[in-house]
Amino acid sequence: MSRRRIGLLGGTFDPIHIGHLALARAARDVFRLDEVRLMPTGRSWQKNHAAASAAQRLAMVDLAIGRQAGLVSDARETLRTGATYTVETLAEMRAELGPEPAIVLLMGSDQLRNLASWHRYQELLKHAHIACTQRERVSLQNLPEPVEALLAAHGRDSLPDQAAGSIVFFVMPPVPVSATVLRERLARGERPEELVPRPVLDYIDSHRLYGPATEH
Ligand code: ATP
Repeated sequence: MSRRRIGLLGGTFDPIHIGHLALARAARDVFRLDEVRLMPTGRSWQKNHAAASAAQRLAMVDLAIGRQAGLVSDARETLRTGATYTVETLAEMRAELGPEPAIVLLMGSDQLRNLASWHRYQELLKHAHIACTQRERVSLQNLPEPVEALLAAHGRDSLPDQAAGSIVFFVMPPVPVSATVLRERLARGERPEELVPRPVLDYIDSHRLYGPATEH
């Protein structure tokens, strides 16, 4: 099999934590992805609570990735000034990569449940596959009707040798952490070393992020 496979994990990463990294590594290994791009959102259109700037969230992603095989950051959305839509990012990536490589958009079950609220969500699959994993306490049962319809048309048992167009699921050991809970803990002055890579915690400290005085 020679077709390149590029994974894309978008997120607020406010801040990045071990759940994001575990998802990226699990997808890399399960789907034999040549690389996984972790791509912080710019000004997020769905979440406007971001406590760290786009540049800071990107810096934390780079620190978290370190030299882990196959993981890279993608700065493109942090460099945009307007709203960022995944469908436009995927179209841009497809134009850059050409028709051959598979693009695999990675997400947790919370995002899949929410998919029908994404801008032009039906077009995502023109540019990429979607690969979803269950997140703790966010069920994959009883999905919203538009998502069920998309699954009925595009759901597959395994990733086909095509560039785009399928929805697949993968399993990873649950990592019970969310950035929301992390921000709350950091705002209380805790230092959750088990959930955030050390260089990221050091960055949070030195830039005084998420502390009581800066929490929105
Ligand atoms: P917040 O709590 O602020 O909503 P978050 O922790 O959900 O943040 P995001 O940046 O929104 O983080 O997530 C980016 C992607 O990573 C999403 O697809 C999300 O489903 C996935 N993800 C986040 N946390 C986990 C986790 N613990 N396990 C598996 N996937 C996760």
